[in-house]
Parts: sequence; C-alpha cells; structure tokens
Amino acid sequence: MSAEGIEALARFLRGDRSMLKCTICGSQAGTWDCWAKCRCGWSFEKGTACRNPKHRTTAE
Ligand SMILES: [Zn+2]
Ligand SMILES: [Zn+2]
Repeated sequence: MSAEGIEALARFLRGDRSMLKCTICGSQAGTWDCWAKCRCGWSFEKGTACRNPKHRTTAE
C-alpha cells in the first residue's frame, strides 16, 4: 500500500469518509459509475455477476 493509501486509511479509521473512493476507478464517493445495485441489496462491479452467496441457492 502506498503512503497516500495509508493516509487515506488513517482518515477513514478516524471517521472521515470524504476520502472514500471507488475501488475500481478511484472516483470520489457519490460519483461512481462502476457499480450496479442488485435486487438483493448488494452492489457489484458492472459487467460481472452479484457475488451474494444467496443467489447460489436459488435457481436465478
Ligand atoms: Zn468507479
Ligand atoms: Zn444479488
């Protein structure tokens, strides 16, 4: 992890969520366009399937 990443993590642990960024493209929180919301409530990377293990037990 880079020094910048460690600083962001330290801020996050202090309760500062303004540094929270998209784990895919690095965009600021609230501007993400990389995630899709599944009907189960989880978010997943667009173009992939939801990873909620709950789906494996259903026929969907
Ligand atoms: Zn993104
Ligand atoms: Zn789902």
